[in-house]
Amino acid sequence: MKKRTLLYSVTPFDPSGHRLKVRLTIAQPDPDGQELSMPAWIPGSYLIRDFSRQIETIQAFSRGQPVAIAKTGSHTWRCAPSAAPLSVEYTVYAWDLSVRGAHVDESHAFFNGTSVFLAVSGQTQDVCHVELCPPPHTKKWKVYTSLPEAAGHPRAAKRHGFGLYAAPDYDALIDHPVEMGTPQVVQFTAHGAEHEMVFTGVIPKLDLARIAGDVQKICAAQIELFEPQARRAPFLESANRYVFMTMVTGDGYGGLEHRASTALMASRNDLPVRGRDDAGAGYQTFLGLVSHEYFHTWNVKRIKPAAFAPYDLSRETHTSLLWVFEGFTSYYDDLMLLRSGTINENDYLRLLGKVISNVRRGAGRLKQSVAESSFDAWTRYYKQDENSPNALVSYYTKGSLVALGLDITLRHATSGTRSLDDVMRLLWQRFGRDFYQGGGQGIAEDAMPALIQEATGVDTRDFIARYAYGREDVPLERLLPLQGIAMNWKAASAAPALDARLRSSHGETQIATVYEGGRAHAAGLSAGDTLLAINGLRVTDTASAERLLGAYQAGDEVDVHVFRRDELRAFRLGLGEPAATECVLERKG
Ligand code: ZN
Repeated sequence: MKKRTLLYSVTPFDPSGHRLKVRLTIAQPDPDGQELSMPAWIPGSYLIRDFSRQIETIQAFSRGQPVAIAKTGSHTWRCAPSAAPLSVEYTVYAWDLSVRGAHVDESHAFFNGTSVFLAVSGQTQDVCHVELCPPPHTKKWKVYTSLPEAAGHPRAAKRHGFGLYAAPDYDALIDHPVEMGTPQVVQFTAHGAEHEMVFTGVIPKLDLARIAGDVQKICAAQIELFEPQARRAPFLESANRYVFMTMVTGDGYGGLEHRASTALMASRNDLPVRGRDDAGAGYQTFLGLVSHEYFHTWNVKRIKPAAFAPYDLSRETHTSLLWVFEGFTSYYDDLMLLRSGTINENDYLRLLGKVISNVRRGAGRLKQSVAESSFDAWTRYYKQDENSPNALVSYYTKGSLVALGLDITLRHATSGTRSLDDVMRLLWQRFGRDFYQGGGQGIAEDAMPALIQEATGVDTRDFIARYAYGREDVPLERLLPLQGIAMNWKAASAAPALDARLRSSHGETQIATVYEGGRAHAAGLSAGDTLLAINGLRVTDTASAERLLGAYQAGDEVDVHVFRRDELRAFRLGLGEPAATECVLERKG
């Protein structure tokens, strides 16, 4: 039987009002009344976002006559029974400058399918055609997306053109974000696969050639990791190309993975400038982000937890395995920079030291395991507050240390013949490679120890029980020396420690976080307090607070004046030794 086809069209019809118009045509609507729904969340970002709230108007028609349409829940609508075909027209407000939503103005349009496409109940397995239409005010825009052109159709889009695109089902439809506009673009191939990098925003003298050269090496190294023989990119079944879409702003940072593309936010200051080769730590941050999202093409977009196969976008979906999908990805993101030669070992050890410092700083790691943190991502990791370092552990950062500890353990136990790479390849072959060609199986919640043992012959049940499901620190003091790396701790500053994180803005310095068990905690200072003076001298910013404290020594006491709400309060603070909170890694010998 021929598969039915749903037809969507998307037009950025009101760029200055930030609005998209969408028309959905359903050839064979449910005769009992068609139900429609919007995703409550977007895969990769584990928070209920209620994308339905950006739909401003919605109407349904059949053969030119209006059809009643009514809300039946927060994310669902029902149309009255009608003759075929049924068309639904709606407008979407698109002014969310993030990788998760949709953003339209006169300079560009970006959208994720989860912000734009209504799902048609009972027809989510049907082929979806999407007509991408230009805005009314310019003919200069082009289209950048990993969504395949509707090959063979008379209205099929040409590459980078407006026109008809196609997805095999709804899950694919919402997994190919679209950028339209006049961005800066560079292309390269990695092991024969086409890659495109698209940069939106004003970026003078962007060094596209340098970025393409570095990212090409990172992509090639990752393809070689998963497919050492065939060297086949993972996304060839879907679009035959991979697209990095980057929105560049003054201080942006973030990324969201898709099956053949990624949406990124980057800071202008992190990107290299033509004629200058001094891009430093900021550029490494950008390359680390690119590497992270690209690694997800395998790990979470094809190798998935069973809970995400398939996604249920109507409600929160829990898994205890984000330490594998985000943690392992975070381990490999910087490691692939090192393996591809885009950073050197000193840079890598500096980046790794920062992660270790960050994880060990918070008491939350002793209260929550990375498995628990994964499960509660929806209500805790994605809803962080001033107390989070004391209450939570990150399945990203501690998850990456679990991966590091596992990798060293596997290498040591097998005299270097097996590693975490073998685990990733087994997961790829077992779950990932054929995921979109009928595999569709995810990893069961308790399956990791057996899979690791199958891939390497090493029993890591105790390791995983203690460091992933338990709350113990990964014993890097013991493990890193097995790889010839010495681990030491030093104070980040010579000033006596307040044991609080400060934040300055608009001329005020606030306590952002009070670390549990520290000096500020003991004195009674609180997150949210506005720091006014230390021993009678005014605090103007975070640097001045550090300078003022630097005049004293451990054992001294100082008076600290703060505003708590609008009340002036004074606290007596006993100063401690500068805390050794900075992890320093060095290769021995
Ligand atoms: Zn990630």
